[in-house]
Amino acid sequence: MPRFRPILDELPAYRPGKSVISADGRSFKLSSNESPYEPLPSVVEAISAAVREVHRYPDPACVRLTEALAERLGVPPEHVALGPGSVTVAQQLFETVSEPGAEVVYAWRSFEAYPVLADLAGATSVRVPLADETHDLRAMAAAITPETRMVLVCNPNNPTGTVNRTAELTAFLDEVPGDVLVVLDEAYREYIRDADVPDGLALYTDRPNVAVLRTFSKAYGLAGLRAGYLVAHEPVAAAVRKVTVPFAVNSIAQAAAIASLAAEDELLERVETVVKERTRVREALIGQGWEVPPTEANFVWLRLGERTMDFAERCAIDGVAVRPFAGEGARVSIGSPEANDTFLAAAEAFIKG
Ligand SMILES: *Cc1c(COP(=O)(O)O)cnc(C)c1O
Repeated sequence: MPRFRPILDELPAYRPGKSVISADGRSFKLSSNESPYEPLPSVVEAISAAVREVHRYPDPACVRLTEALAERLGVPPEHVALGPGSVTVAQQLFETVSEPGAEVVYAWRSFEAYPVLADLAGATSVRVPLADETHDLRAMAAAITPETRMVLVCNPNNPTGTVNRTAELTAFLDEVPGDVLVVLDEAYREYIRDADVPDGLALYTDRPNVAVLRTFSKAYGLAGLRAGYLVAHEPVAAAVRKVTVPFAVNSIAQAAAIASLAAEDELLERVETVVKERTRVREALIGQGWEVPPTEANFVWLRLGERTMDFAERCAIDGVAVRPFAGEGARVSIGSPEANDTFLAAAEAFIKG
């Protein structure tokens, strides 16, 4: 038997969003915050063209995609680092700062990947409880010690959908020591409608210790292809590039991401539709008697406590897969109107008991 790192015994095996099916054959996946839309024709075309080139290695530096992003975001190309999904870019960030004794601070509950990445990198997780389902930035600043190397701020937070606004976020950033990296995970940036939530790109400009994480997986609908990126000053972006595996972002993902940037207006119209559905779903839930935190993402959060797994089972009867966190609550993605209606009917049946 090979000797593995002891930490592996503590890591849960990854549990993918379960697909469920109703007795009459209906199935709605509201468990992974994906876009409910198929790729646009122009993106499919770019993918088809790229397929014919797969005997070649991808561009390891993602030059065209980096340039397209830099132009779109108004940042220097040297400030952009790409990876196969922003989770992998986050993993690279952990690798750039972790060593025995290094502490990484993040809110809890937040994105489920953070503890796993910390464990894998050999960093020590410091979890700061949410207050009112929201990052408690004062407590997070207070949790910083001389051993702290990185702080993750997921805005909006996965799985609660809540946000931190400009005043508290800038006060927090002003308090964090300059040698601590602050990562603003903005996987759901495009769904934000609250004008007082700052754009991470405005915050990083004069802060060399701030990095912004974004992805093509959610609003841009490319979850299956894996493309995400970081924007940060050159020392951070360069460190992340150093720890990358060569050819990490495949050529089809690069082509699809470039085509998606070109089709951004159409994609953002779809986002607008999801945002309208989000409002409709949240208001319907509140009308049924649920408490639903205000959400700026493409999902809603229901704090169900001990009833969480029963709720997920009730939804599954109608073919709706949600993402339960046992003993805590369930995260439910906003899907097509039909999927959302089916979910709302299940939620109503559950609350009426
Ligand atoms: C979905 C998500 C990501 C993005 O994951 P990809 O690896 O880009 O698919 C990153 N952060 C959070 C908080 C997410 O929910």
